[in-house]
Amino acid sequence: MTIPRVDLPADARLDTLAVREGLPPSPWGENSEALFITSSFVHPDAATAARRFANEEEAFVYGRFSNPTVTMMERRLAALEGTESCIGTASGMAAILMLVLGLLKGGDHVVCSQSVFGTTIRLFTDFARFGLQATFVPQADVDAWRVAMRPNTKLLFAETPSNPLTEVCDIAALAEIAHAGGAQLVVDNCFCSPALQRPVTLGADIVMHSGTKYLDGQGRVVAGALCARDEVVTQKFVPVMRTMGLTLSPFNAWVVLKGMETLSIRMVAQSERALAIARWLEAQPGVERVYHPSLPSHPQHRLAMAQQGGQGGAVVSFVVRGGRAGAFGVIDATRICSITTNLGDTKTTISHPASTSHGRLTEEQRLAAGITQGMVRLAVGLEDVEDLKGDLARGLSALT
Ligand SMILES: *Cc1c(COP(=O)(O)O)cnc(C)c1O
Repeated sequence: MTIPRVDLPADARLDTLAVREGLPPSPWGENSEALFITSSFVHPDAATAARRFANEEEAFVYGRFSNPTVTMMERRLAALEGTESCIGTASGMAAILMLVLGLLKGGDHVVCSQSVFGTTIRLFTDFARFGLQATFVPQADVDAWRVAMRPNTKLLFAETPSNPLTEVCDIAALAEIAHAGGAQLVVDNCFCSPALQRPVTLGADIVMHSGTKYLDGQGRVVAGALCARDEVVTQKFVPVMRTMGLTLSPFNAWVVLKGMETLSIRMVAQSERALAIARWLEAQPGVERVYHPSLPSHPQHRLAMAQQGGQGGAVVSFVVRGGRAGAFGVIDATRICSITTNLGDTKTTISHPASTSHGRLTEEQRLAAGITQGMVRLAVGLEDVEDLKGDLARGLSALT
């Protein structure tokens, strides 16, 4: 027995897969995907159980490593990313942990952008305890990635666009460097999601997700995933899941599964709102600089537009006059935006990176990364754009 597929035309496109890919309905014929809350699965007889435990027959066995709702989410995300397979994990960080446990050993080397999610840098750095070597390089400097390669480099890890400066890296160029050195390229695709950017079509080997962000899309659950070739998932990641239990809960998988149905319309709508706000911010006297990939002033505007389906994503950062006090003033004057560092929500969030997400860096490290005290980050949601402008104008007008 193998677990059956949904009956869809082989050439079904992204928007159709986002709504339909998964498992066939249960015998009850539900139209919305079922949430299977069960820790184990029953076998018809002892011989079948033995075959299933020996991996000779595909079936659901035990909730630590298999559940139909989680499988539906995995199949849907794999279809959107264009990979053969996917494995869901308890969080985005659990997905990166799975990457390390499944693919690396002591003595191996990783090259990672220095602009990735701060906790990702911590995770690679913490694994020095087990002999893992990591080099952190400037996101957009392709030569720096090439120079950092060593004979024992196994993985290149990139996140594009970056947070909060929306720096873009050239996925195709990094894939070439990785493959020339016998390594694999992993891309954290949280900020664009497969609705805008499909890293494997540009040569990446593995796509990592925090489902917590745009895949859920409404700020409800924590979830993660790795998308890769079937061989990598079944031989490298599934065994880690069985023994180490980085398990995604079926409920969280179900929320992400349903979230993906509206992913592409949300990503486009939120990117368009973000661009409208970015353009408006550029014209405000209290604003010194605006970062958004769709602005022609963005240093990698052309690469971003080519790589991200013509969209800039929903994150906009800007530097206000008056340093930290100015930034705090703008944040505190908002009445609609949520003051939180999370992103990927339909609710617009506003944060001060220098004192929150990047607060553990020294001022010197922060300035090297381009994060000043006057910087504010917005992750634009689905509210009315004019209302959001009004929300920001209140604090900005006090600066001039
Ligand atoms: C949030 C985030 C993560 C970590 O995901 P969790 O689900 O919070 O564990 C990793 N990468 C990026 C880019 C993120 O924004």
